[in-house]
Amino acid sequence: MIIDEIETPGWAKIVRAQDPKRGLDALVAVHDATLGPGCGGVRMHPYGSVEDALEDVKNLSRGMTYKNAIGGIPFGGGKSVIIGNPHQDKTQALFEAFGEVLNSLDGLYYTAEDAGVTEDDMISVAAITKYAAGFRRGDIGGDPSPFTARGVWRGIEAAVSARLGRDDLKGVSVCILGVGAVGMALGEHLHGAGAVLTVADIHEASLAEAKEKFGAEIISPEAAHAANVDVYAPCALGGAVNDKTFPEINAAIIAGAANNQLAEPHFDADLRARNILYAPDFVINAAGVISVGLEITGRWNQDEMERRIDAIGDRLRALFERAEREGRPTGEIADAMAEEIIAAGAQKYG
Ligand code: NAD
Repeated sequence: MIIDEIETPGWAKIVRAQDPKRGLDALVAVHDATLGPGCGGVRMHPYGSVEDALEDVKNLSRGMTYKNAIGGIPFGGGKSVIIGNPHQDKTQALFEAFGEVLNSLDGLYYTAEDAGVTEDDMISVAAITKYAAGFRRGDIGGDPSPFTARGVWRGIEAAVSARLGRDDLKGVSVCILGVGAVGMALGEHLHGAGAVLTVADIHEASLAEAKEKFGAEIISPEAAHAANVDVYAPCALGGAVNDKTFPEINAAIIAGAANNQLAEPHFDADLRARNILYAPDFVINAAGVISVGLEITGRWNQDEMERRIDAIGDRLRALFERAEREGRPTGEIADAMAEEIIAAGAQKYG
């Protein structure tokens, strides 16, 4: 295996690991390690080029710095990507090779599953390295998706309260784009709370399941952002708010699980200008990595997890109030809150 460092200003460390025999071509990025080792999932995706993969892992790892800080776990930002098709290219050997890459970083980065990677895959990685989490050990931890979904549900409640002045979700209409691991579990919570659901996905079987379980209306993914609903919940890939979708958004609230929902940072202010309340992605979707962080630090238990998930709603309430008070966009406030936590950590840890 060849492991090369890619010197990148602004990142603590980025490496590319190649092991053609075992089919591994991966990038690991640690953005900031002020609060602790980098922590963030591994994504498997058939990137068109190494440059695309590098761009993605940089953006995702920087996002994790903010997410982990605001999520209150003692970790810096990290992320990794495996270049490959998760439906065709997965082998035990590939994940074992990836585990060796983590060992070579000697504790600078901890991983868990992200898009394209499953709990079983993490178990293969964990056979080789202690720097992997996100799988169930007895009653502890496990696939982060259900926790993420619960945190997003709490976040939607906070946003509905702030923007619509409603204390419950009865009759509140929500469009979920992407009913995958998180989106489907989110749908269950919302449906249970009385919300009226619309769903969009590219995967027919998931749509059929959502229709069956929630009586959800089905629309095309191209129309999801324009749905006439109270809440638009992007739960597929990044960039849901972009030049094309932004002018067509009808929802009063954007609150979903996807990472990097704003294609460009300026949409933060643009959404505020249109009085659309945006629940910053890395705040609302942090429960998964909080679970992973508690797993790694040996502090995972059900009560602690539930307390931390509920805290996501409270954190968003505080964030929305501060944004209102200071007349600033919510994403900017979220960044400021995370930066304040990192600056305090830098003082504490030198
Ligand atoms: P997933 O792969 O299980 O689900 C994604 C769903 O989106 C799938 O059903 C897929 O068919 C659908 N999809 C993909 N492209 C689409 C498109 N162009 N249009 C419509 N639907 C499309 O992934 P997940 O774990 O549910 O994660 C969803 C999002 O939430 C991702 O952006 C992920 O990074 C983010 N996220 C997940 C977690 C977690 O704990 N799993 C935590 C934080 C953030």
